[in-house]
Amino acid sequence: MRVFDRLEHLYAIGGGQGANRPHASPAEDEAHELAARWLEEAGLDVEVDPDGNLIGRAGERSDVWVGSHLDTVPVGGRYDGALGVVAAIEAVERAGVGSVVAFRGEEVGWVGSRALVARGATLPSTFVELHIEQGPVLEQAGSPLGVVTFIVGWARGELVFDGRAGHAGTTPMDVRDDALVKSAEEILRIRDAARAIEGAVATVGELTVEHGAENVIPRRVRLSVDARAPDSDRLDTLLAAIGLVPSRRTGPVAMDEELRLVLREEIEQRGLAAVELPSGAGHDAGILAAAGVPSAMLFVRSLNGGISHSPDELSSPEDIELAVEVLTDALRRVATSL
Ligand SMILES: [Zn+2]
Repeated sequence: MRVFDRLEHLYAIGGGQGANRPHASPAEDEAHELAARWLEEAGLDVEVDPDGNLIGRAGERSDVWVGSHLDTVPVGGRYDGALGVVAAIEAVERAGVGSVVAFRGEEVGWVGSRALVARGATLPSTFVELHIEQGPVLEQAGSPLGVVTFIVGWARGELVFDGRAGHAGTTPMDVRDDALVKSAEEILRIRDAARAIEGAVATVGELTVEHGAENVIPRRVRLSVDARAPDSDRLDTLLAAIGLVPSRRTGPVAMDEELRLVLREEIEQRGLAAVELPSGAGHDAGILAAAGVPSAMLFVRSLNGGISHSPDELSSPEDIELAVEVLTDALRRVATSL
């Protein structure tokens, strides 16, 4: 099937193990050029906007957008972002309406979609993003497809711990002031704080140790914190428990009720349960929704326990074909009725 051939083509860009198309790399450019050719083959009017986002418009209802992103994390998987773009090309070609969009730099802070909004460009009237779930909920529910209710809020920032540098051989244990030991205790406390709040998660993903020498007691440690929760109250509680003043933060963003209903009905018409779930990951749909564009997300079941941002990402051909059909029919309906 063409969808899988295209996913393989995208996966092969950059070579090596896993998908390697980080934002602003030649590999991201190559993926956009390849997708532009597919848009032309589909008979769409192709445009690259001033921020590098790729758009392919059908003759009718080009204000209704479907799509996702083509950049990846380093050593990513086949499906994150790429599936949403490849599926959108199928949907627009089959339905003969709407526009496909491939945003730039989603993985490094929604660069393309945020630039589109910030530039004051004409925004779409509707945006539907198909994406892999990147979590285990649908697999555990035994459901191939899900409809996103809202995208959780998140906050990011840095905590700094100071100690005193010293000789690793001559400084007795009882007089040390080791910044890394302090931060290790803090990391465990951050984990416990998130565990104590329903639906909350917190991650320390980066540590910077000064001076970072094997025979020197660490003098200063900086650690990154990524905290997320289903609503602003719980996010506030989590941040207070961690003691983090975030440098960046977004509130939870709701998906559009009417579009959610369309997706649910399309799923149910195929005799399947329409599972509704929040998205713990941020998405371009969240940026557009926050800017006032009625937006929705269709999730495809992630297998392998829901693993993502890894070459082990997996979704089945059956689930993907089903998702493409639901997206196509939803696009037709939205284009004729909304
Ligand atoms: Zn993604």
